[in-house]
Amino acid sequence: MIKLSDKIEKLETSATLAMAAKARELKAEGHQIIGLSLGEPDFNTPEFIKKAAIEAIEDNYNTYTPVDGYPELKVAIQQKFKRDNNLDYSTQQIVVSTGAKQSLYNVAAALINPGDEVILPCPYWVSYKDIVKLNEGSPVEVKTSIDQDFKMTADQLRKAITPKTKMIWYSSPCNPSGSVYTKEELEALAEVLADYPQVVVVSDEIYEHINFGHQHVSMASITGMKDRTVTVNGVSKAFAMTGWRIGYIGAPKAIAKACTKLQGQVTSGANCIAQRAVITALQADVSEIDYMIDEFKTRRQLILNLLKDIKGFDCNKPEGAFYVFPDISSFFGKTIKDKTIQNATDFSLLLLEEAYVATVTGEAFGNPNCIRISYAASQEEIKEAMQRIKNLVES
Ligand code: PMP
Ligand code: GLU
Repeated sequence: MIKLSDKIEKLETSATLAMAAKARELKAEGHQIIGLSLGEPDFNTPEFIKKAAIEAIEDNYNTYTPVDGYPELKVAIQQKFKRDNNLDYSTQQIVVSTGAKQSLYNVAAALINPGDEVILPCPYWVSYKDIVKLNEGSPVEVKTSIDQDFKMTADQLRKAITPKTKMIWYSSPCNPSGSVYTKEELEALAEVLADYPQVVVVSDEIYEHINFGHQHVSMASITGMKDRTVTVNGVSKAFAMTGWRIGYIGAPKAIAKACTKLQGQVTSGANCIAQRAVITALQADVSEIDYMIDEFKTRRQLILNLLKDIKGFDCNKPEGAFYVFPDISSFFGKTIKDKTIQNATDFSLLLLEEAYVATVTGEAFGNPNCIRISYAASQEEIKEAMQRIKNLVES
């Protein structure tokens, strides 16, 4: 009998990927599934980026890459940080990885000692908690609610900090709530952190460009924060490049060096063709991707309007990313199609099994009253999905 490690036994399967797999299975069985579970743009990678990749193949970019990324890509990232975020990183402070997910893992492994606490404002992106646990850290969840637009306040942060606090991890725009921290809100958090210089911030900005409201602000650009912040970003979302697997960080030199050392033993440098293509993506004018952002904005309004029309869904207005995160706790205790709903997981499964609409339970994001619905799907699919949900829950 094979005995797996305790570490792996304790690890949860990624809820987003698990739900997507379940939806695919039902689809293969012939059901008309509408997949609103996975956070994945439904656009093709823009032509100019694909062309750069084809050229890279033809130019024989086929060998191992430098562990921390091609120097030309690091310069493109350096310029991107300056252009979009007003951040001056040296190229030694930049590490390219196989997706932002690996960037996050690297940072956790580089910084966490057993028992170190990592503050996670809820709702948080699904993998944060397990990446922290896998590295023997203790996640400390800070609950937020719809009426605070799911954003952690300075007061909540102060109360959550203990002598064991090592890091704070958050995303803005946030997956799953779509909330975007304003400059003032980040400044208020930074003011608290000024009293705790040992605490590192991991600012996940992968949805930076998918932002419909406030100007995006990087935590590292707030006075006093750059030397203690890891800025995580990548091309999966804004450039519709999820499968290309390129993410990156800008970080204090010691952290960047540690991440490179780790990566050198685990995966080596990221994929050669993808890195060449990302140079072109990052050098392009951001307006090249406006057509996708505009479409996401239209869909956000569409889904918010349709949700308003379904009894029992209570939703904030997300300013970014491509998710809505409605509170559906009004259904708890009710029975629909002979199924009693006790929690968000039951509700999400009900939607899948009875309406053939795939969503993700909020429990995976640290909020058991909500479900996450991705609107990275066509307007027709969104309309059909919301109609099915309405028919089901109002039946
Ligand atoms: N952070 C957040 C908030 C995400 O939603 C995702 C989704 N994939 C990631 C990181 C990881 O992105 P990547 O595809 O670059 O690994
Ligand atoms: N980030 C996406 C999501 O939240 C992709 C899935 C994943 O990487 O877990 O759905």
